[in-house]
Amino acid sequence: MRPLEDTIASAKLSQLREDYRVEVVVDWGYEHAGNADSWNCGTWRLSELEKLHAAINLMAGAMGGADRFAQNLGGVTIKKSNIGLRGGEAAKNHVNLSEKIPFSMWTVIHELAHAWDANHSWKLSLALEKYTGGYTRPILAKAKRLTGNWDAGPLGGENRPGKRGRLPGCNAAGYFYGDKPSGSNWRFNRKEDFAESVAMHLGWKKGNPLSAWADARIDRYLLPNGARDENFGVDNWADYAAYFYPPNGDYTKTKRWEFIDGLMREYAT
Ligand SMILES: [Zn+2]
Repeated sequence: MRPLEDTIASAKLSQLREDYRVEVVVDWGYEHAGNADSWNCGTWRLSELEKLHAAINLMAGAMGGADRFAQNLGGVTIKKSNIGLRGGEAAKNHVNLSEKIPFSMWTVIHELAHAWDANHSWKLSLALEKYTGGYTRPILAKAKRLTGNWDAGPLGGENRPGKRGRLPGCNAAGYFYGDKPSGSNWRFNRKEDFAESVAMHLGWKKGNPLSAWADARIDRYLLPNGARDENFGVDNWADYAAYFYPPNGDYTKTKRWEFIDGLMREYAT
């Protein structure tokens, strides 16, 4: 943040606080150094506050407005942190965004979805798992590892085609997803499934900043095996289409879309 942007940034912070009960932890401002004040830029940019606001506004809109958003998430403190290679992380009433990796609106929505789920004791993701016909059984996953139909290495996911752990149960959690998620990898579990499903629902064919990414997540399965996708790299896309590509490429025909659509309506009233 630059000194001249401070007034606009402060107004934005007040608005987020008052409308959505979102508190951004300020890491910029004047610091006293001896007799002179020096400006600390912090890590936030004004454009990032605007992007954050746009993402919150999009999610609130789907939930029936700012009041509903504030109530459903129960207030959220958003902070920039050093969180290694991850873009974000979330818990009840808290979202951390990476101070190193630039964030997208998709990341913000994904993390806010975790905060929503966490504010309801993670029961929303449990309900999604059930609705979509999935289950979490680590012991069954181990058995699967020994008997084949396993698309990861012996120790877990590997960063190469056909080894990233995309098949049901082939992940660290032993999560056997039901129906068709938009993707899966070694870190997939019901909580990640829920957060991605919220972002997919908000973006799917809505003509908003999430929509191109939502399309890309589905369109990759139209590629032949071994093809390079500009966002997702090389994989055996055609083999995975059976698990992830919805009927006629229409994501609204999935159980996840149905579930999140119903949930948004439920939490809007
Ligand atoms: Zn996540």
